[in-house]
Amino acid sequence: MARIAIVEREKCINGKACDFICGKYCPMNRTDAECIIINENDNKAVIDEKLCTGCGICIKKCPAKCIDIVNLPEKLKEKPIHRYGQNMFELFRLPIPKKGYVVGILGRNGIGKSTALAILAGSLKPNLGDYDKEVTKEDVINHYSTTYLGEYFRKLFEGKVKVAYKPQRIELIPKMFEGTVGELLYKVDERNVVDDYMNLLEVEHLKERKLNQLSGGELQRVAIIATAAKNAEVYYFDEPASFCDITTRIKVAKLIRSLLNEKCSIIVVEHDLATLDYISDEIQIIYGKQGAYGVVSQTKGVSRGINEYLDGYLPDDNVRFRPYPIKFEDVTEVKESEKEILKVVPPLKKSFENFGMSVRQIELKKGDVLAVMGANGLGKTTLLNMLAGEIKPDEGEVEKFKISYKVQYPDPNVEGTVRDVLMNAAKNKFHTGWYKQNILDKLGMERVIDNQVKNLSGGELQKLYIAVTLSKDCDIYAFDEPSAFIDVEDRLKVAEVIKEFMIKNEVAAIVVDHDVQFIDYIADSMLVFEGNPGVEGHVYGPVSKREGMNHVLKMLDITYRRDATSLRPRINKPNSQLDKQQREKGEYYYN
Ligand code: ADP
Ligand code: ADP
Ligand code: MG
Repeated sequence: MARIAIVEREKCINGKACDFICGKYCPMNRTDAECIIINENDNKAVIDEKLCTGCGICIKKCPAKCIDIVNLPEKLKEKPIHRYGQNMFELFRLPIPKKGYVVGILGRNGIGKSTALAILAGSLKPNLGDYDKEVTKEDVINHYSTTYLGEYFRKLFEGKVKVAYKPQRIELIPKMFEGTVGELLYKVDERNVVDDYMNLLEVEHLKERKLNQLSGGELQRVAIIATAAKNAEVYYFDEPASFCDITTRIKVAKLIRSLLNEKCSIIVVEHDLATLDYISDEIQIIYGKQGAYGVVSQTKGVSRGINEYLDGYLPDDNVRFRPYPIKFEDVTEVKESEKEILKVVPPLKKSFENFGMSVRQIELKKGDVLAVMGANGLGKTTLLNMLAGEIKPDEGEVEKFKISYKVQYPDPNVEGTVRDVLMNAAKNKFHTGWYKQNILDKLGMERVIDNQVKNLSGGELQKLYIAVTLSKDCDIYAFDEPSAFIDVEDRLKVAEVIKEFMIKNEVAAIVVDHDVQFIDYIADSMLVFEGNPGVEGHVYGPVSKREGMNHVLKMLDITYRRDATSLRPRINKPNSQLDKQQREKGEYYYN
């Protein structure tokens, strides 16, 4: 059986706190085979995948938890398209750009999505897994000569496919371009559309601003415009919704779709399921094992693709990549009026120099999740800050209650490991079975428990902060954008963990987020912020989820239905029959 051995090099502590324990216990090494050896250059462990039997002893013995060995699905005896190096991540197959279509890519963090796009966009030269050999462009073309990709690579390497690529890591853009937003955008404006796009995504006022002075959401919109303004045959967008508020997400989705014509193709990677669903004509899933390997699936219709992803089983490829399905149950809502009130927040008002906001009375109920939605700059974070006692309202007084609060931007600069931070937050609860099962396991903390907090990825850090928030004993739990940086599966897990926690402990949560699907999954009731961003904010609600969703969807000018198979909510295609019917009835959110 083909297997992959991964050694996370930065974690390996051989020669320091470890005395080559993996090699000493390896049964193959004991028979004098050189299955695990020490690399002369960096003194770290190297595993020979041909000799490895997959016994897993080294994984258990390694004190740094830096080894992972996985068996590949039986059919995958083919060469990968790329491997980063010995005992490093490898990617099998690639997404296929298709003329006249938007292909959406769905997959977990660390499964190779960005790697795939970088290869297709020509910014990473693939090595066909032969990281230790010189692999030429001809080799790559020949390897795929019988498929569409052979022709694609030939044209790409000859500079004949014009690609436009928005990378995931937009924070690197200001390091490559020092000028202003206007200078950047007019320079790349091959289709004379930049003025329109700036207007559409509301960034005109930023023209004179230097790129390094922009917020995440502003930089994202500029990067999307710069990519969309090119006259390309293939457009790649890696996570275009990140940092964007809910109204911007829909505008971005519409802009990307508007690029489509019969001569160009578009590929989009996105974790916001509603956005991905709305943008895509087809879906390709990337499955495998995070950090170890990824396999790109065949192309599927959007509805089927997303349903198979949630199911965890791909019939065409005959692979079960997750042992359980993710379900959207059509839960009968408990009437809000029948729930017991936990705390009442009176009407509040707050003004800053240029901004004023007000909220109506909020009743927080036992076991309830109150979801908060609305564009940026309307006062959502200000509300949470007032509840947490961090700022004082101008009018109204918040009763002092015990509140645990996950702030919008988790701070990575914390000394110590994940274990240190969680033990400190949970105290003696840390060792209970409940904690292990519900917090550590469900939020995937075990895998990184001995990692330094400052080395965590964005998604891992986010989940750590959510775990810390739930580790404290409080009445109210507030979360500001908990879905940021985490993948679809973790978003739904986070929603489930928070929901169950509130019910079990008879406490209440307030969750601010921009992912419609996530909110739909987690919310019992809703509060919608409206107004003029950066100037004035007020609220609609709290109301029932149904009423709140209807209000939000109307504001975004989209309608929703429930998918017949998975029961997950879906955005109707504009002008489809259902879309028209529901608009007529004013039922934007159909249940
Ligand atoms: P995704 O976009 O699906 O989150 P990526 O394609 O960014 O995943 O990364 C897939 C895996 O490859 C990750 O485990 C990542 O750590 C690893 N990886 C990414 N870039 C490199 C690199 N330059 N060298 C070694 N490993 C890398
Ligand atoms: P949201 O969370 O809805 O994006 P915020 O509550 O963060 O909105 O901010 C609403 C408005 O209040 C913004 O225009 C912001 O610049 C302004 N603001 C927030 N905090 C302060 C502060 N401490 N001083 C001055 N203005 C502030
Ligand atoms: Mg990525």
